[in-house]
Amino acid sequence: MIKVELADRVKNLPPYLFASIDKMKQEALAKGVDVIDISIGDPDIPTPKHIVEAMQKAVEKPEHHRYPSYEGMLAYRAAVADWYSQRFSVSLDPKTEVLSLIGSKEGIGHIPFAFINPGDVVLHSSPGYPVYPVGTMFAGGEPYAMPLVDSNDFLPDFDSIPDNVLNRAKLMFINYPNNPTAATASKEFFKRAIQVAEKFNIIICHDAAYSEVYFDGKKPISFLEVEGAKEVGIEMHSLSKTYNMTGWRIGFAAGHKDVIFGLGKIKTNLDSGVFQAVQEASITALKTDDSVLAGIRSVYQERRDVMYNGLKSLGLEVKKPEATFYLWAKVPDGYTSQSFVAHLLEKAGVLGTPGVGFGAPGEGYIRFALTQQASRMQEAVERIRKAL
Ligand SMILES: *Cc1c(COP(=O)(O)O)cnc(C)c1O
Repeated sequence: MIKVELADRVKNLPPYLFASIDKMKQEALAKGVDVIDISIGDPDIPTPKHIVEAMQKAVEKPEHHRYPSYEGMLAYRAAVADWYSQRFSVSLDPKTEVLSLIGSKEGIGHIPFAFINPGDVVLHSSPGYPVYPVGTMFAGGEPYAMPLVDSNDFLPDFDSIPDNVLNRAKLMFINYPNNPTAATASKEFFKRAIQVAEKFNIIICHDAAYSEVYFDGKKPISFLEVEGAKEVGIEMHSLSKTYNMTGWRIGFAAGHKDVIFGLGKIKTNLDSGVFQAVQEASITALKTDDSVLAGIRSVYQERRDVMYNGLKSLGLEVKKPEATFYLWAKVPDGYTSQSFVAHLLEKAGVLGTPGVGFGAPGEGYIRFALTQQASRMQEAVERIRKAL
């Protein structure tokens, strides 16, 4: 037997705060508890039928059984450009300004390899998607957390970042509509981000995974809609949340052609693209009639209303989300985010996610995902009522 030793980059991974929660969930399930799991950001609604049917046809075509092109089929990238033009009035050159991704997680994890040298700083919002700092560390960069706090509408405060950090920063991850806080961003915020990027020569990578999961008809804007955005960065999108396609592994990056080129260079050397049948089905997905998406949104909106009104009636402090399928609630006095999650699991059989698992500024919060039927969410509220 050889001695297998993990590389420092793996040893130095931050502790996985959800591990103890996972263990508690398994124990509860083993005891026969009917756990209402609203901890996971994975849609419970299936992929719309017309997309599945397009996949069934595509998978039969032998030309799709071979290696795909690295950057994505031109037809897929053209469908992305058409979607941007219709949804956001943003024009993109499908040849140079669009790149297919094996899910946006893949793009987020790989982009630091293209632009980060050891010691370079990567700014990222926190609480946030854990891949921003982890991808940074894997590439030898230094993550710098920009805290998202209620008093600043869960937007980073660029003025509080020291100049010596901004001077060393090469890349900035931002994400609106935001996971986990459910906050949305205005054009003014993006304008400020672009000013910072221009002044300090920082590439912006805007993660727009939730741009299509919105409520009350309030459509989120695209970063690329804002003047100057395409000169400083890119936007990453995913079909996962929009079309309930998390298992399919497809997304895309769009924007600044040099950034697209750099990310493409890394990918060419590491992966061989997205199964073309998935790309073909995704072209169908991107042309989905808005009435289908409106149907999905109304399902989430009903759940949001149940959960929001319910948590309010329990006296919990929570903002009404305008987008994403999350609720970001303050834990009651006397609890930490972890102890409150444990309490709800033990006393109510309801599983949320501790806010601190998304980064230190998430302490004091719990995230609930709207990924169970409205009747189950109602039951979760009633059980929490008894547990408090
Ligand atoms: C779900 C999610 C993603 C990744 O989605 P993919 O399935 O990899 O496309 C990226 N960013 C955020 C904030 C997410 O919540």
